[in-house]
Amino acid sequence: MTGSTAATPAPDRPTAGDWLARAAAVTPRNEAFIDGRFVPAASGATFPDIAGRDGGRITDVAQGDVEDAGRAVQAARTSFDDRRWADQSPANRKRILLKLADLIRANRDELALLESLDVGKPIRDTLAVDVPSAAKTIQWYAETIDKVYGDVGPTGPDALSLVTREPIGVVAAIVPWNYPLIVTAWKLGAALATGNSVVLKPASQSPLTALRLAELAAEAGLPDGILNVVPGPGAVIGDALARHPAVDKIAFTGSTEVGRSLLRAVGESDVKAITLELGGKSPQVVLADVGDLEAAADTIGMGIFYNSGQSCNAGSRLIVHRSVREELVERIAVLGRQLAPGEPLDPATRLGSIVDERQLEKVLGYVALGREEGAQVVAGGERVREETGGFYIAPTILDGVDNGWRVAREEIFGPVLTVIEFEDEADALAIANDTSYGLAAGIWTRDVNRAHRLARSIRAGVVWVNTFDAADITVPFGGFKQSGFGRDKGMAALDGYTQLKTTWFDLSGG
Ligand code: NAD
Repeated sequence: MTGSTAATPAPDRPTAGDWLARAAAVTPRNEAFIDGRFVPAASGATFPDIAGRDGGRITDVAQGDVEDAGRAVQAARTSFDDRRWADQSPANRKRILLKLADLIRANRDELALLESLDVGKPIRDTLAVDVPSAAKTIQWYAETIDKVYGDVGPTGPDALSLVTREPIGVVAAIVPWNYPLIVTAWKLGAALATGNSVVLKPASQSPLTALRLAELAAEAGLPDGILNVVPGPGAVIGDALARHPAVDKIAFTGSTEVGRSLLRAVGESDVKAITLELGGKSPQVVLADVGDLEAAADTIGMGIFYNSGQSCNAGSRLIVHRSVREELVERIAVLGRQLAPGEPLDPATRLGSIVDERQLEKVLGYVALGREEGAQVVAGGERVREETGGFYIAPTILDGVDNGWRVAREEIFGPVLTVIEFEDEADALAIANDTSYGLAAGIWTRDVNRAHRLARSIRAGVVWVNTFDAADITVPFGGFKQSGFGRDKGMAALDGYTQLKTTWFDLSGG
């Protein structure tokens, strides 16, 4: 057990060679973090953590099971029940979380490297997006701590009724591998700011930054037991957390399929709170009056190809008016060719690898299915850079797709855009809403009335007009329909980690 370090001295602008040298020297934290210290799994078992960039083993990680989940829950329960965190002054809790945000920034290079290794994300993105965004999220929630007030109910002269927010208790946060730092920060920021204790279950593909975050939180002054991290198989640990009577709330981000299984587990065990941030199949509706087609093509292209398409809100269904389809698709194809996947640790690379071999096979399977269903593959469609041992797919466009086909209905979770043509606005809206998901949508038009009309009619938690994937911690994020319920981000997320208490005082004197 050694500390995670990026051993090479940091040059100002590290090259690909510098990052590769750091990767070779890195010794990540790889044990579970329970009650303030790193511990092996109770069984002693480990699992190999594989890098998407070359298929190589980064480290062996403690493979927790039901017993480890139980220990983590016990530590969280004890720390919550003795109020060692919730009852600290708001100023103190704020100071500790602000310190954590500072430590995330101070350890930017190391966290970025771990995230790139685990997920195959380009180092330029983890440095510029994932790490700064996680720090900003923790900072933003820290600053809410002394700004949220309770209410006094209008209950008349004979009573004083206080409506206060209390932490919900022990939160089990189960997170996916596609944005490990960002999604973890959303959950930790809101849960810790409101005084809860947390058991964090990272995805097996991406446990490294979660473990390092826990260590940084301890360094910032978070008391023992408030944040615990248990890596290991989701079907074992996630299920154990969902059924554990000492867990008060499940905060899940991941696939709709696992979300359903968690609902069943919660229903079969006890009545704990649950929020679900699930998958998506988001439409990009492009009207004939789209305006600047080149700019739209770039944003729509990045809206599906960024992070190799492994984004819950990826704009994966292009629903485009017949008059602009050909030119738009060609421009997106050009962008796709420019974005050829490369070594994630090269700062020039804009598109990295797929997370692992299983996901690679899944995406390639959907491309083959698209061909069978009748789509024309007008860009990409194949595995590339196989000689590296890593899992890379060229940005892919499936043209001539019918919205009833499986490639248009199921979440592919790879850099694959499906193109569906329409003639009139009513059809476009019907196609956009003809999906079981409702996470996000894009609308492209210069007509302000049409933009408002469509934005109001699309059933999705986020609708972008003439842009896509613009984000800020101040506004909520989450889905309609089978994309889940509950919201991350913004003040709205605090509702998911608190419960309201009414305290009634009799003032009648009688
Ligand atoms: P996943 O559902 O396979 O896994 C998510 C987490 O659940 C992981 O930690 C995993 O170990 C755990 N898990 C797996 N099986 C479990 C079980 N039976 N019981 C309890 N926990 C279990 O998802 P993934 O492949 O890691 O991530 C991709 C999915 O996440 C996509 O569907 C994507 O759309 C979704 N996602 C949604 C959002 C959002 O905010 N809506 C954000 C990111 C990702």
